Amino acid sequence: MSSSFPHVQPPRRVLMGPGPSDVAPQVLAALAAPTVGHLDPYFLNLMDEVQQMLRTAFQTKNKLTLAVSGTGSAGMEACVVNLVEPGDKVLVCVNGVFGGRMADVAARYGADVKTIERPFGEVFSTEEIQKAVEEFQPKVVGIVHAETSTGALQPIPEISKVVHDAGALLLMDCVTSLGGLPVEIDKWNVDAAYSGTQKCLSCPPGLAPVTFSDRAVAAMEARSTKVASWYLDMTMVRNYWSDQSRAYHHTAPINMNYGLHQALRDLLEEGLENRFARHQRNHQALRSGLEAMGLKYTVAEEYRLPMLNAVTIPDGVDDKAVRGQLLNDFGIEIGRGLGPMAGKTWRIGLMGEACTQRNVLLFLAALESCLQ
Ligand code: PLP
Repeated sequence: MSSSFPHVQPPRRVLMGPGPSDVAPQVLAALAAPTVGHLDPYFLNLMDEVQQMLRTAFQTKNKLTLAVSGTGSAGMEACVVNLVEPGDKVLVCVNGVFGGRMADVAARYGADVKTIERPFGEVFSTEEIQKAVEEFQPKVVGIVHAETSTGALQPIPEISKVVHDAGALLLMDCVTSLGGLPVEIDKWNVDAAYSGTQKCLSCPPGLAPVTFSDRAVAAMEARSTKVASWYLDMTMVRNYWSDQSRAYHHTAPINMNYGLHQALRDLLEEGLENRFARHQRNHQALRSGLEAMGLKYTVAEEYRLPMLNAVTIPDGVDDKAVRGQLLNDFGIEIGRGLGPMAGKTWRIGLMGEACTQRNVLLFLAALESCLQ
């Protein structure tokens, strides 16, 4: 018998959208290495190394730092469900799609959710968060560091101070920032943070790095109810990721962890500072080219993400036709606008492996030809 289905032969793309980003050949090779058992000594050692490298990426000494099996949204759910019990007050700052998702997740797990909102593309001031935490007295405050849906960068350190002064825990989404911008968990005093592998870490989607402070772990240990998700219950998952117990919880996605291990090695070998500088440099080059073509950024200069460039689609230009032409004629993927920005903006990613001078030049030339 032979299958009538074709072999997997995906087209070659240049991934310059909101993620996934391009994956380096050495990461793809690591994914294809022989699978071992999830309790094999080789894999247990690799898990330790993944944890150590994640601590460096997150700039933390947090013991409870690991890769959740699942995409960034699983990381989001893992953070929320472990910190929140039914009826707990959670304040979520919503200035884009992913803040909205965090509020939805918290409400589904029975939290008493209050949101504060800013229009898409704007960021929160410390004062407005201070006012909201003083009035609402939440247990947890959730905020997105790098809003992929808008291209806005939310400053965190001062907000962290007002959140802690009010006795709350700070939960931060750094799905798009980790590996592309400084994410300083300990210095900023962040209690729980989650990311994804497919943005600036340049591994395929499939794992969600998370980290929890001692204060967050104490909150988990003081719970009076079981964590509402069996799969994401860190009080159990952490035993599998701990060097002593190694109690089976679920079968880790072995090869995804190989890929993440290689992607983290690449990050550390380049060096965090060099990696951040590369993202800034290519962002500035892209920006010069886009502005020379008359395109305008949607986010104020001081809050722009280097890895996600949101620009207004010029009047009279067909959004879908241009994105289609970029993909079909040049193999370049960029992102469309989300929510209120649908049809109005393009989101041009410069994430991890895709953040190169070559891609900037290729993209600018391709876009110019599409706009003629
Ligand atoms: N948070 C942010 C800021 C994101 O950009 C994304 C994905 O784009 C997510 C959360 C959700 O991650 P995933 O799509 O990997 O589940």
